[in-house]
Amino acid sequence: MLNKKTVDDINVKGKKVLVRCDFNVPLQDGKITDENRLVAALPTIKKLVKDGGKIILCSHLGKPKGEPKPELSLAPVAARLTELLGQEVKFAKDDEVVGPNAKAAVAAMKDGDIILLENTRYRAEETKNIDTFSQDLASLCDVFVNDAFGTAHRAHCSNVGVTKYVKTAVVGYLMQKEIEFLGNAVNNPKRPFVAILGGSKVSSKISVINNLLDKVDTLIIGGGMAYTFMKASGEEVGNSLLEEDYLDYAKEMMAKAKEKGVNLLIPVDTVVGKEFSNDTEFKTVGRGQIEPGWEGLDIGEKTCKIYADAVKDAKTVVWNGPMGVFEFPNFAKGTNAVAKALSEIDGTTIIGGGDSAAAVNILGYGDKMTHISTGGGASLEFLEGKELPGVAAANDK
Ligand code: AMP
Repeated sequence: MLNKKTVDDINVKGKKVLVRCDFNVPLQDGKITDENRLVAALPTIKKLVKDGGKIILCSHLGKPKGEPKPELSLAPVAARLTELLGQEVKFAKDDEVVGPNAKAAVAAMKDGDIILLENTRYRAEETKNIDTFSQDLASLCDVFVNDAFGTAHRAHCSNVGVTKYVKTAVVGYLMQKEIEFLGNAVNNPKRPFVAILGGSKVSSKISVINNLLDKVDTLIIGGGMAYTFMKASGEEVGNSLLEEDYLDYAKEMMAKAKEKGVNLLIPVDTVVGKEFSNDTEFKTVGRGQIEPGWEGLDIGEKTCKIYADAVKDAKTVVWNGPMGVFEFPNFAKGTNAVAKALSEIDGTTIIGGGDSAAAVNILGYGDKMTHISTGGGASLEFLEGKELPGVAAANDK
């Protein structure tokens, strides 16, 4: 159970409540192309409005690198939130984020009103967690709510620094939900517990592999990281992604799996292409058969079947990272097969954020999963067993 205070533990009637959300949504020509993160933030906002707080929302968007960049303004988010909530979300346009406009907008608020501040990363202090901006943010509010799981693995002004200056700091419903799903899966899983790891590199998931080997019954490896494991098992991998520096590590992890009785699965066949493109010549080859001049871009059909069988009776599955270059339709079959297999099981399915969440949604299995995390980096750090600074900073129960 979460040992942090939540929005259910406070009384916000008449109070100014600063809510750190994760509105870091993809934008194309000023239009939001995926609004999952906005929708995920609504329950907390609605609860605080109902309780009569004055709601001041804030978030970062993209990487403006500490200065105003009009294309990374949160104005389109305010407009879309207004539609989603059926209530005006006033945009407090202010290049200083907490400048004269934002202060005046806050001063004019009535109970139940909502405003949205400008992109917190317009301020250079934000990502360095420098006190001046934390104090500015704190000066606007009586209570702080952190509902931004996507940035919980970073210690920035708007999620960590600000809590130094606001006595009451709690987490919102989204944060609570993310921590409970991921936390239960990792620390108290219903078994069999299967983890599926893919994506490009072993190096970015070292601690995740190590930590999960202490917890899972089966660990499935796919994607670009599989080739380092294949090479470590003595197979040739041609031009496939390979991290030579991590071969010993891969061997160590295979030995650890054996010692712990974990069923570690690596691909038995591979879809290889001549070049890194969708239209390249491709074929499927068996174990150890990747020739020079070819690179692995997806898991093969036999592997898909083995992986689907391995999750069939699972009661908990955590998945992070695609099985192949799913952005290319010719090499999306492995990722698709795993998503389909997960959508059919009678167990809890948890998808780490980032690419795996995008893949599951693009492939149309989004509503079949128990939980899709809104945080890529944050969910990975969670799976590593780390305490997230954005969570740690909230008041204990
Ligand atoms: P990550 O950010 O580490 O989870 O990696 C996700 C990326 O890994 C996606 O963009 C995939 O296209 C890429 N990926 C998956 N499989 C392969 C592969 N076999 N070769 C190269 N890249 C891959």
